[in-house]
Amino acid sequence: MSDERSPSLAHQPAAGGIAARAMAAARPAAYLQGLNPEQRAAVETLDGPVLVLAGAGTGKTRVLTTRIAHILATGRAAPYQILAVTFTNKAAREMRERIGVLIGQSVEGMPWLGTFHAIGVKILRRHAELVDLKSNFTILDTDDQVRLMKQVIAAADIDEKRWPARQLANAIDSWKNRGLTPAQVPAGEAMSFANGKGGELYAAYQARLKTLNAADFGDLLLECIRLFRENPGVLAEYHRRFRFMLVDEYQDTNVAQYLWLRLLSQAPAGEKVNLCCVGDDDQSIYGWRGAEVDNILRFEKDFQGSTIIRLERNYRSTGHILGAAGHLIARNEGRLGKTLFTDDVEGERVTVAGAWDSGEEARAIGDEIENLQRKGHALNDIAILVRASFQMREFEDRFVTLGLPYRVIGGPRFYERAEIRDALAYFRATMQPADDLAFERIVNVPKRGLGDATVQILHDYARHNSVPMMQAARVLVETEELKPKPRQTLRDLMTAFGRWAAQSEVLGHQELAELILEESGYTDMWQKDRTAEAAGRLENLKELVRSMESFENMAGFLEHISLVMDASEEGASEDKVSILTLHGAKGLEYDTVFLPGWEEGLFPHQRSLDENGRAGLEEERRLAYVGLTRARRRAKVWFASNRRIHGLWQATMPSRFVDELPAAHVDVVEPSGSYSSGGAFAMSRFDKAQPFSGSTYSTPGWQRARENMASGFKATQPPPRREPLTIEGELVARSTGTASVHKVGDRVFHVKFGYGDIAEIDGNKLTVDFDKAGRKRVVDSFVAAA
Ligand code: ATP
Ligand code: MG
Repeated sequence: MSDERSPSLAHQPAAGGIAARAMAAARPAAYLQGLNPEQRAAVETLDGPVLVLAGAGTGKTRVLTTRIAHILATGRAAPYQILAVTFTNKAAREMRERIGVLIGQSVEGMPWLGTFHAIGVKILRRHAELVDLKSNFTILDTDDQVRLMKQVIAAADIDEKRWPARQLANAIDSWKNRGLTPAQVPAGEAMSFANGKGGELYAAYQARLKTLNAADFGDLLLECIRLFRENPGVLAEYHRRFRFMLVDEYQDTNVAQYLWLRLLSQAPAGEKVNLCCVGDDDQSIYGWRGAEVDNILRFEKDFQGSTIIRLERNYRSTGHILGAAGHLIARNEGRLGKTLFTDDVEGERVTVAGAWDSGEEARAIGDEIENLQRKGHALNDIAILVRASFQMREFEDRFVTLGLPYRVIGGPRFYERAEIRDALAYFRATMQPADDLAFERIVNVPKRGLGDATVQILHDYARHNSVPMMQAARVLVETEELKPKPRQTLRDLMTAFGRWAAQSEVLGHQELAELILEESGYTDMWQKDRTAEAAGRLENLKELVRSMESFENMAGFLEHISLVMDASEEGASEDKVSILTLHGAKGLEYDTVFLPGWEEGLFPHQRSLDENGRAGLEEERRLAYVGLTRARRRAKVWFASNRRIHGLWQATMPSRFVDELPAAHVDVVEPSGSYSSGGAFAMSRFDKAQPFSGSTYSTPGWQRARENMASGFKATQPPPRREPLTIEGELVARSTGTASVHKVGDRVFHVKFGYGDIAEIDGNKLTVDFDKAGRKRVVDSFVAAA
């Protein structure tokens, strides 16, 4: 078999093996048993590049794991010669364990099994001096990164208020994700920050990192790439070392990861690249973070003589679940299209249920889970997958009330999030002036110039006089102990706390909470923040205020919180319901999956639609597909007719994805008893809905939702609109994009920002001077010629 062999569906193991493999084939090893022929081909095709392109639950991850076991068992490579990339550290741990089970011995010695970042940092430490670092370099977190960025901006004499450090941090991150060093940043983009200083600042920031012997997250790959490019000898060493390379979730690799892999997989002349990537274009859900689904489609071109293997049998889900998920994802235009079938039973249909509001949704799901538990289902086999993390709060509160154990995967529990703890600290310090921990937490959050030195003085005085810190502060602001500036700031802060305490007597506690968050500058801090998480944090803060509603006063609320926090101390190993985001659920599976919040604006998320138009919608749909395909036996979709958004009750419409589910695989259930509050949903629309019927918006469910909206509720959310341009048959998740059809100076119309003139063009991204909205960067597919 030669390298020129055209890519094909390989149903047969590759030839050209060694004796051990021939023997293994004659007497299939235990770990190969149970694999279907395509899976087996993917495991046994060890020579040359292999791409496994297959739908959810077809055993891609299992194939990778078995492939490693096979390589080890047949002696084709030692553990330290295998590079295996997983998407999370958790996935790496699980893979390590499973390989151990498959080959019947522990695999401690697989140093190169981990995430891109974990492997990148390991390589960098070994050659740190070649990229101007020492091997003990520190890795900066986002906060450090922003702090450093501020210094760089100040040093360049740029007004940080106009050009916030977070914005620069975001730009630099995205350049790093795309594998761009300061010299490689396209001129147009470098111009976009601080009137053309973006590129220079990036270079200055990199220089500062070196002086500090530090790297940020993006550097872990970018500096690796530079290392390989500038030191062919080092790269050759890794070529010799990594006899086999394997990558899971390949559809979500970004450009930097791709470049990194390509460098590592350039085999010396005459040798084959033993790279095996597995992925599913329908599960590409990190486009917003720079992932390039193109990578998977380019595989055949990039790696000569590759074997493409398709797996079509799904082993995870029942017929109805798979039918529903397959039908939904078929709406996407930018996809390859795959066959997926199951030999499993039809099973239970996917259920869709409507609740009056999000509180009722949480109560009903809590009841359903208790029912399942009574029937003997393990809580460990049940998950709730949410679109936005603020949705978790209502479930957590409900479960605490019910005494139902739960865990939040991939992030802190709601009340443990940094922004929630900060807000609670403000409330506690207002209500309980002796709460030093609370006061200390927020005395300089947002940054107001009350740094460590000031806090130390407060501490010393408080301890010496055995008084709380806030009392110490009140005394010290009347003295010369502190420098004039911090003294004034602290005095203002203490005045504010005094005022809030007085207002707690007259204002409602929700009103008070909002006032504190406003006046302290805390909300403002996140509003100015340009990082990807900031919007989510603001949502969480609103959710916090909303959650206070069911309490009589602030004291009652704070008491409840201390109970919730306490519950988190319980044992970790017991049976628990999992709560996680759809993004965090990738690769996982559960018997029963609840999918709450399928409402327009929340899912698909409005931000995604606003920022990325049709591509954004399709990414949201892939997320829905990921959600449904996590379920083995039961998938339960919910939506609420009313949700409190930005403090206002709003009538919400069922997600268009609800309408896109096929009648044949779905049961619309009317919640029993107290939950049948009516108006949420009507029963019959699935009888009439045609699969693939033309307009999503003409179905009865949709119409009803609109009528419902017209008849009274305040809705500030506009009905979803159609994008002005459709991208026919083009792959939509790409983020770098091709050249725009527009020219500088063209007049265009944008659905959100109105009319404007194009000032700059960079690929498919336009900088437009809008008549009303000012200068904005937008995606080309979201504007039309005016
Ligand atoms: P995803 O796209 O969600 O990451 P995947 O393609 O990686 O899914 P796996 O997680 O590897 O799929 O497998 C899905 C489930 O099917 C797992 O429980 C796995 O153990 C099971 N499975 C895979 N192949 C087989 C097989 N040949 N026989 C029995 N069970 C299988
Ligand atoms: Mg997988």
